Amino acid sequence: MSMYNMDLDKAIRKIQSKDAKTVGLQFPEGLKMQAVKIAREIERQTDATVIISGDPCFGACDVSDYKMKGSVDLIIHYGHTPLPLRYEVPTLFIEAFSNIDVKKDLEKCLEELKDYSRVGLVTTTQHLHLLNEIYDYLEDNGKEVVVGSSPSTRKGQVLGCNFSSIKDLDAEIILFVGSGNFHPLGINLFSNTPVLAIDPYNNEIRRMDDYTDRILRIRFARITKAKSAKKWGILVSTKEGQYRMKLAKEIKKTLEESGMEAYIIMVDNVTPDILLPYLELDAFVVSACPRIAIDDSQMYKKPLLTPQELEIVLNKREWENYQLDEILFHERYK
Ligand code: SF4
Repeated sequence: MSMYNMDLDKAIRKIQSKDAKTVGLQFPEGLKMQAVKIAREIERQTDATVIISGDPCFGACDVSDYKMKGSVDLIIHYGHTPLPLRYEVPTLFIEAFSNIDVKKDLEKCLEELKDYSRVGLVTTTQHLHLLNEIYDYLEDNGKEVVVGSSPSTRKGQVLGCNFSSIKDLDAEIILFVGSGNFHPLGINLFSNTPVLAIDPYNNEIRRMDDYTDRILRIRFARITKAKSAKKWGILVSTKEGQYRMKLAKEIKKTLEESGMEAYIIMVDNVTPDILLPYLELDAFVVSACPRIAIDDSQMYKKPLLTPQELEIVLNKREWENYQLDEILFHERYK
């Protein structure tokens, strides 16, 4: 049995109700191994032909509606909740909730939480259905639990680039439930509040302080190196949710006003290879996914900075006011 609930019945019902003849399937990297199995079942149970999107996908910022437009009648996008974006093809989002059990880890985390009474609670798409259970458990054990909401995400949900649900959260510590360092690092950088991460996949409970410090030291080194850069590339992504051309143009203007050269480069995916030909450029600012500069930094020889990190380079922001870059999806069409 899959570790995730792929809700095949929901997919089949939607295909039948829309009478879709061709259906696009899109999965984030961690769920792509389910693609063939799902495609087989859909083609067995309906008359539709399935087209699997083989490109990398990391978020609902990257629904393949533009690419699949004209080829499919419906897209089924797994693993993410919809963003307040306009999609060009009818799209069904299936969260792929995890079947993981968090009870044992919750018991263990109480010890780590013993010095805190007000606990913020956050998670990712795959575990949103567990929030009530975790909330009740913590409250039953004497904690006051706070869960934030935001116009871009569901209640208690964070994305790698959007933490509005924990903005101004009145918590002494934030408890994150989910896998990996990606989200809890973002929460820690965004909130300046201690973060305790429960990873039920590895039965791990860890404070994020050391990891966050290590990342901040790397960011400091990259910013310092970028201070000698004279020629800049500004990366814009063609992905609908990551497309921030207005910001890129503002950055170009700012750099030019500071006596530098700056060129906008538009790409689909930002990878080390696509930057190799730009030998003349000393550093890059990423207006695409805010996490590329932070999380993939080791893969790039030249500094890749977020727009806020560039402000530090240009002495327009103090290092002490380091701020994570966010995409405010709900403001996209204002
Ligand atoms: S922009 Fe980056 S962090 Fe935000 S949803 Fe897309 S892939 Fe995730």
